[in-house]
Amino acid sequence: MEKIAVLTSGGDSPGMNAAIRAVVRKGIFHGLEVYGIYNGYHGLVNGNIAKLELGSVGDIIHRGGTMLRSARLPEFTDVEVQKKGIEQLKKLGIEGLIVIGGDGSYRGADALSKLGFPCIGVPGTIDNDIVGTELTIGFDTALNTAINAIDRIRDTASSHERTFVVEVMGRDAGDIALYSGLAGGAETILIPEENESIDHIIERLNRGKLRGKKHSIIVVAEGVMSGVELAEKLRERIDSDVRVSVLGHIQRGGTPTASDRVLASRLGARAVELLLEGKAGRAVGIVENKIVDNAFSDIIDQPHNIDRGIIQLSKELSI
Ligand code: ADP
Repeated sequence: MEKIAVLTSGGDSPGMNAAIRAVVRKGIFHGLEVYGIYNGYHGLVNGNIAKLELGSVGDIIHRGGTMLRSARLPEFTDVEVQKKGIEQLKKLGIEGLIVIGGDGSYRGADALSKLGFPCIGVPGTIDNDIVGTELTIGFDTALNTAINAIDRIRDTASSHERTFVVEVMGRDAGDIALYSGLAGGAETILIPEENESIDHIIERLNRGKLRGKKHSIIVVAEGVMSGVELAEKLRERIDSDVRVSVLGHIQRGGTPTASDRVLASRLGARAVELLLEGKAGRAVGIVENKIVDNAFSDIIDQPHNIDRGIIQLSKELSI
């Protein structure tokens, strides 16, 4: 193998740049030519591809977003469109592709691998919803952004004796809500993986009030319901000022944390090694601080495993 390419796809996440840098530098270290594909599968199909040098990825390790930009291309489910993408790569003599993205991006990479073009996936999403890895690139940064916000909300909530509902991202996964709720000391955490009734939430709020709590913070994952909807349900039942804060896309941006940069560097580099070892149709991940890889077929469309021990702990600490 002499030439490989890298693209970022789907929702961007902080640390994607560090992963691109790792792919480029590790590839060049091993004597490869490395190409960057701009705008995800859209750029692949349209031939928006350029050779990257060591300097092309200089000064990006600390930047959020992705220098290769990202896009969505719904038509990429069509096998003819996938073949067009492979043609673009073959025209340049590229023999392997590294896809940094989430579950949807993995499906595209799996399809290309099945058509005979070797692809390796690198988990890049703030949602931490990919099977086969305990962490995804961007999750730690998003979590820290959420905690920062929750800490600030706590200051104002206690000054005014208010109940605050904080809506965080995560799509169908509750990881950002669970971990930011635990680290931010939220009274209640609502995640899609657990069914908590409104009655139960009210009961907790009332219990807290009875023992003199000045404020309450409820973290709700977007996959459960919107913060506005939850606040409306609560207002009908409690005699307290309920305010809503939707953190939104601030969770997707920002300088990646040290953990995300290190993770991205390790995963990006391992992806290059796998291509050099002749592997295809696999995704890298981290389990118990060891870099692992799994076949796409074993991780795509599998139910995401949230840590049940952390759910239990968060309940025990917020009684
Ligand atoms: P993420 O990778 O963050 O989960 P998406 O689900 O939006 O983001 O997927 C990103 C892109 O991956 C899509 O726009 C599409 O181009 C491609 N993709 C998604 N699902 C498939 C599929 N079943 N087959 C081929 N390509 C897919």
